[in-house]
Amino acid sequence: MNIKADNLTNPDSDSGQCKLAKPICPICDTIGKAVKTVTPQHTLKRQYRNKVDNGGNYHFCENPQCDVVYFDCVSESLFKQEHLINRVTIKDEHPKTPLCYCYKVLKEDVLNDFEKTGTTQVVAKIKKSMKKHGCQCEKLNPRGGCCLMDIEAWLQGY
Ligand SMILES: [Zn+2]
Repeated sequence: MNIKADNLTNPDSDSGQCKLAKPICPICDTIGKAVKTVTPQHTLKRQYRNKVDNGGNYHFCENPQCDVVYFDCVSESLFKQEHLINRVTIKDEHPKTPLCYCYKVLKEDVLNDFEKTGTTQVVAKIKKSMKKHGCQCEKLNPRGGCCLMDIEAWLQGY
C-alpha cells in the first residue's frame, strides 16, 4: 500500500477510526464515501457477508475505473465488484447494469427508450415511484444512497 505522508493520521482529528486522515481507497487512492455497515451486508453475495466487520468503517470507492467497491479503512478489508450481487452503476457499462436498484431499472431499459423514442422518462418514473413507495437505497444500491445523481451523470453521456 502506498501511504503518502499527508495521508497519515491527523493528530487533530478526533474521529479516531481511520488509520489515515482521509478514507482513501487502498488500490486507486481516491477518497471514498462512507456507507453504513448495513449496505455491504445486503449488497454482497451471501457467501461474503460474514466477512463484513460489524464495527467496520466501510467506504464506497467512487472511481469508475477501480474494481474496489468497499474498503474498510480500519481493518483494511476490501470488497470488489465480483463480490457483489449486482453490477455497480458507475463501474460497469454492461447493459444489464442497474441504474435504479429499488425499482430495477437497467441501463438496457433506458437504451431501449432511446432507440424507440429518442428520449427517456426514466428519472421522472423513478421519482414518481419513490414518492409513492419510498426506497431502500441503503440496502439495495451498492453506493448506499440515492441513485438519481449517478443516473443523471450516466445520461449526460448520451
Ligand atoms: Zn478505488
